[in-house]
Amino acid sequence: MSKVSIFWFRRDLRLHDNAGLYHALKGAYPVLPLFIFDREILDDLEEPKDARVEFLHDTLHSMKDELEQEGHTLIVKYGFPKAVWPALLKEYDVGAVYTNRDYEPYAKERDQMVREMLDDAGIPFHDFKDHVVFEAEEVQKKTGGTYTVFTPYSRTWKEVLGSRTDTFTNPDGERQDISYYLKPYPIEDYADHFLETAPLPMPSLEDMGFERTEIELPSKKVSRGLIRKYDETRDIPSIDGTSRLGIHFRFGTISIREKAWRAKQLNETFLNELIWRDFYAQILDEYPHVAERSFRPKYDYIEWRNDETDFKKWCEGKTGYPIVDAGMRELNQTGYMHNRVRMITASFLTKHLLIDWRWGEAYFAKKLLDFDLSSNNGGWQWAAGSGTDAAPYFRVFNPYSQQKKFDKDFKYIKKWVPEFGTDRYPEPVVDHKMARERCLEAYKSGLARAED
Ligand code: FAD
Repeated sequence: MSKVSIFWFRRDLRLHDNAGLYHALKGAYPVLPLFIFDREILDDLEEPKDARVEFLHDTLHSMKDELEQEGHTLIVKYGFPKAVWPALLKEYDVGAVYTNRDYEPYAKERDQMVREMLDDAGIPFHDFKDHVVFEAEEVQKKTGGTYTVFTPYSRTWKEVLGSRTDTFTNPDGERQDISYYLKPYPIEDYADHFLETAPLPMPSLEDMGFERTEIELPSKKVSRGLIRKYDETRDIPSIDGTSRLGIHFRFGTISIREKAWRAKQLNETFLNELIWRDFYAQILDEYPHVAERSFRPKYDYIEWRNDETDFKKWCEGKTGYPIVDAGMRELNQTGYMHNRVRMITASFLTKHLLIDWRWGEAYFAKKLLDFDLSSNNGGWQWAAGSGTDAAPYFRVFNPYSQQKKFDKDFKYIKKWVPEFGTDRYPEPVVDHKMARERCLEAYKSGLARAED
């Protein structure tokens, strides 16, 4: 058997503009691509109907078909990486392993384990940046160190992006200027460096204990018109004014370089949102404690009420606060919630109901199609006031004024809460004024305890 390189797909599921795959194909051996349905992750999912697993499965299926049409294939395994890798090393003569970096704590631990296993076998493990435009050490403060505040971070991010330019040929064959960092990796040029081999079997969803869902998955096509108008439309939850690309960024079915380049040409506000994504990824990478605790340790002294009945009402969208309920019902029914409403519902849970942000974070993680640990954690800690760029704790969102500003004609609310305005709609779970005062008191005394 001749030597092969294995390219290990994880959250970069595409056969174009993929950094690690490009380097693998340029390497010394034919490339056998691999994906592992990781039981360390899948075994924690509570529901057999999970649209994200379905999305992964469908995506891998079409990538495998595409490869097989050219006489190549994709190995798809289901198991624990610590068991899958030794079996692969027995089955194939592996000369090198390539992958793209993942910044989540579990992924870093897993990759370290695989790296050591490969080291012992004398096999090099090469990893690349692909999931973000910039990693933490590429956008550093002038005085050194990682930024923890977004505005100066984004300023430097843009400076670094503009610091090196290059030209490239676009799909229409035109030469164009592009930032060196956004240049695509031309997999197409090396397509015949995949290993020639017969098709391999792939586990079905049912083999892994999952079923298909009724949830509609968002397309990866977004019109230029939408992106152009993004700054005007993105805050109104009743209109389709945002890209819905979250799940595609999450699993890498689109390239961040390609989208950032497009954003740079079309809309600065949209580009800023992509910078937030990089910002939270580097925070998680550099400060992994945020996955468990507050970014600002003082906030771990807050005494949460954690009332189970209130939490259930929040989850089900039955708080009696229409904008909150609309958001939660949109999430439960579609796996999506508009960003503005994510902020309102998260603030309501932590501040009005005084429920630990980790409860809400976990609920979103279970439900969001675009769930991503770094952005979800960043969003929740922002709302709770415990995070990097968090608004001061005494700024408590008023759900009524948020509704007046962002859903003034109740369009969004009526779509998701049809009984709103009738006597079937519940009374508010808590009085706004009382909840605000209770929140300020709890935060004030928690922070005072931290000082003792
Ligand atoms: P668009 O508005 O079209 O933005 C384009 C892309 O930019 C998004 O897909 C996303 O990748 C990125 N982006 C936009 N806003 C942010 C942001 N504030 N922080 C980081 N990246 C951003 N985003 C996730 O991708 N996964 C999550 O699990 C997640 N959880 C969140 C939880 C809370 C409490 C809050 C307040 C925000 C959360 N966000 C999360 C950020 C944001 O709400 C979503 O990225 C956005 O709503 C997704 O919709 P879209 O794809 O239409 O985004």
